[in-house]
Amino acid sequence: MQPLSLVIHGGAGTILKEDMTPELEAAYIKGLDDALKAGYAVLEQDGTSAHAVKAAIVVLEDNLLFNAGRGSVFTKKGVQEMDAAIMDGKTLEAGSVAGVRNVRNPIELAEEVMNNSNHVFLSGKGANDFAIKQGIKLEPDEYFFSQFRYDQWKQMRDSDNYSLDHTHQGLEELMKDKKFGTVGAVACDAFGNIAAATSTGGMTNKKYGRIGDSPLIGAGTYANNNTCAISCTGHGEPFIRAVAAYDVSCLMEYKGMTLQQAMNEVVHVKLLAMGGEGGMIGVDAKGNTGMVFNSAGMYRAMLNSQGEHVVGIYKD
Ligand code: ASP
Repeated sequence: MQPLSLVIHGGAGTILKEDMTPELEAAYIKGLDDALKAGYAVLEQDGTSAHAVKAAIVVLEDNLLFNAGRGSVFTKKGVQEMDAAIMDGKTLEAGSVAGVRNVRNPIELAEEVMNNSNHVFLSGKGANDFAIKQGIKLEPDEYFFSQFRYDQWKQMRDSDNYSLDHTHQGLEELMKDKKFGTVGAVACDAFGNIAAATSTGGMTNKKYGRIGDSPLIGAGTYANNNTCAISCTGHGEPFIRAVAAYDVSCLMEYKGMTLQQAMNEVVHVKLLAMGGEGGMIGVDAKGNTGMVFNSAGMYRAMLNSQGEHVVGIYKD
C-alpha cells in the first residue's frame, strides 16, 4: 500500500504571533485540524485523493475564519464572488469556477464541472446557472455575512484600494499588512494518485471581475501523477505570471528536481524576484510533502501514514 499524505493551507501573508490572541490562534489550529481530519478520513477509507482534497476544502469553506466559501471577503459592490479549482493527477481532469455567488461550497461546483460538464472552467452567471441545474447547494447572502469582514470592507469601499485578505487595522496598515486567507489541499491516496484543490473569496474590495491565481489551472492549482500536486496562496497576480504551480511540476519533470527543491526554487527564487508574496503546499505520488512560503506566515497542516502530523502558522 502507498503511503497516505494530506497537506492543507488556510492562506499565507504577514501573520505574526504578536498580532494574534491565544483564542484566535487556537481557533485557527482547530479549523485546520478539523479539515485535516475530514480529508484524511477519506484517504483511510481508501477514498481517492480528489475526494479527500474536496472533503478538506469543504470544512475550510464552512469556517468563517478562512477567506473561502462562507468566510469570503466583500467585493467593491459589497457581495461575495468566489473562485475554486480541483485537479486529478491521475486523469489530468480539472474543473474550475470563478466569480460565483451564493454557492455554499464552490469546490463542489468545481468538482461538478470536472466530472459532469464537457468543460474545465466556468465563470460568473453561467457557472451559477450550471450550479442550479446540477443541484449544487446555494445559500442566501446572509449566510456569507460576517461582521469582521464587513468592517474590513467598510474601511476600503470608498477607495480604489483592494486588499489581499482580512485584517482588523486601518487602511494604511491594511495595505502594508497583507494576509491571504485562501484555502487549499493536496493529497496522495492509497493507490498512489494525487490531487490538488484551492478555493478563495479573492481580495477585499476587488472589482472589474478580478480573478486571481486560485482557479487557474497551472497558476494556483495543478496536479499530475508524474510530478506533483500543488495548491498556492498569496498575491495572485505574480503567481499567475509565474505559472507557479505548473512551474514546480516542470522543474521536477524536465530538470529532475525533487518536490522540495522545485517548490523552494519557485517560492524563494522565482516568485520572490517578481515580488510574489505567499506560498504553496505540495505532494508527490510517493507521498512526499512540502509546505513552503516566503511570507511571514502560512496557515498550514499535514498528516501522513508515517505518523507525521504538523500544524503551523508562523515561520519556525
Ligand atoms: N491567491 C489569492 C488571489 O489572489 C489570494 C490568496 O491566496 O489569499 O485571489
